[in-house]
Amino acid sequence: MKVVIDPNSGFCFGVVYAIQAAENELEKKGTLYCLGDIVHNNMEVERLKSKGLKIISHEEFSQLTNAVVLIRAHGEPPETYRIALENNIQLIDASCPVVLRLQNKIRLGFDEALKKNAQIVIYGKEGHAEVNGLVGQTDNSAIIINDLSDIDKIDFSKSVILFSQTTQSKDGFDEVVSTLKNKLKDKSLFVEANDTICRQVSNREPQISLFAREHDVIIFVGGKKSSNGIFLYNVCLKNNNRSYFISSPEELNPVWFSKCRSAGVCGATSTPRWLMEQVADVISKLH
Ligand code: SF4
Repeated sequence: MKVVIDPNSGFCFGVVYAIQAAENELEKKGTLYCLGDIVHNNMEVERLKSKGLKIISHEEFSQLTNAVVLIRAHGEPPETYRIALENNIQLIDASCPVVLRLQNKIRLGFDEALKKNAQIVIYGKEGHAEVNGLVGQTDNSAIIINDLSDIDKIDFSKSVILFSQTTQSKDGFDEVVSTLKNKLKDKSLFVEANDTICRQVSNREPQISLFAREHDVIIFVGGKKSSNGIFLYNVCLKNNNRSYFISSPEELNPVWFSKCRSAGVCGATSTPRWLMEQVADVISKLH
């Protein structure tokens, strides 16, 4: 059986940057706090923990003083920066530049919304770290819609300025835009649709579709909490019904590979290369 690792899978530049920042500091000091999981992949988190990384919650962060804390790629709301100032916490800000640009856009959009009596809507997952950082730019007033079932949270007698979490699907975003346009009550109202989906993610959709079709069996490696992982796995499944989601090599089931001539291993933007290599190695030894 041939086993191929998808060359386009693995860390995006935002995650590479955050992990590099953590490793640099760990090399110098041997210890570092990180606000939330540095990446939605338990195996990578464990690797960094063994080097001295300590993951803390927002509650623990607010109790901390005189420490050094890393902000991961997802970014943080303004409240986090305020607490850091008050508690003499030095921040290593590894927020992804794409997320920072989006936060800035939303801040400007919020000012515009106040002037035009419009509402800010974010197409994303409620409670997700990136979304919390985005909502924080609007004094926590933005309306979050996860999918069309949330659409009635929106007031259709007001205009809408719409943004998207960076990891959402383009099709889902387009669907939200057309539904909003149809639902607005008055012709004088507008929908300003800002497609702020990260191309590091959306470009992977066509690439991984192709990869999934090229192999008999697809093993998708990702963390269970990675929204990008769940999205890309579903793309694989749509293109190849012999696609399986695993988080570690122990979850591989030899039965999946019966009559398989070619197995493809791929993953999310948060899946480390070394983990895909481990998985590929175990598969090659199966037959
Ligand atoms: S997916 Fe895009 S926005 Fe998110 S961390 Fe990676 S590069 Fe940045």
